[in-house]
Amino acid sequence: MASPKPPRGPQLDLAGDLCVAFVNTAGSRTNNRQQGVQSYEELLTWSQRVGLVSTAEALRLGQRATEEAELVQAVFAKAAKVRSALFRIFLAVAGEKEARAADLGVVNSELAAAMPNVRLVPGEEGFTYGWAGEEDALDRMLWPVLHSTAELLISLAGRPQVRQCAAKGCMLFFVDRSPSGRRVWCERQTCGNRDKSLRSYHRVGKYSRFSPRRY
Ligand SMILES: [Zn+2]
Repeated sequence: MASPKPPRGPQLDLAGDLCVAFVNTAGSRTNNRQQGVQSYEELLTWSQRVGLVSTAEALRLGQRATEEAELVQAVFAKAAKVRSALFRIFLAVAGEKEARAADLGVVNSELAAAMPNVRLVPGEEGFTYGWAGEEDALDRMLWPVLHSTAELLISLAGRPQVRQCAAKGCMLFFVDRSPSGRRVWCERQTCGNRDKSLRSYHRVGKYSRFSPRRY
């Protein structure tokens, strides 16, 4: 009997930061490059861009999405709910506060639904995670996102390395993996440069290490 084709794992070098990238799809007020993901169609495009679904999978999911409008709305509403809960959890982690039980409840409920689909898959560079489950499950891109949330938050082990960008108006999160542990911007080339020029123009003092901003 031919062995089944192994489920494909995320082709992502974001690794554990996938969940942060997902939260950042909510968008940023000032960063015009990132308009945000506000529909299932856009979620699918983003998922394909970051390697969570292949072109063939995106076509299949896109086809099903056109046939089941109500279900698609429910799936995107769920994705948005998870994203909002993750946003508040990361905000709490960045501010060294406790995450709200209600937000953890949302994430845990969806994590429990995702986990039966996770598989260990051998690859050329060792084992990786893959995802089984129904091929046309409209929410399958959320499974690795939820899994990466668990991996990231557990790996922090009390160290508040999830941060929100210090640039005025930018709400994007990042994981500070710098040797100094003092990274303050989501991207030095964009927010860093804009922030520095604003500071020198207005001659403002240093930003506090963390000042949370919500939508
Ligand atoms: Zn930023």
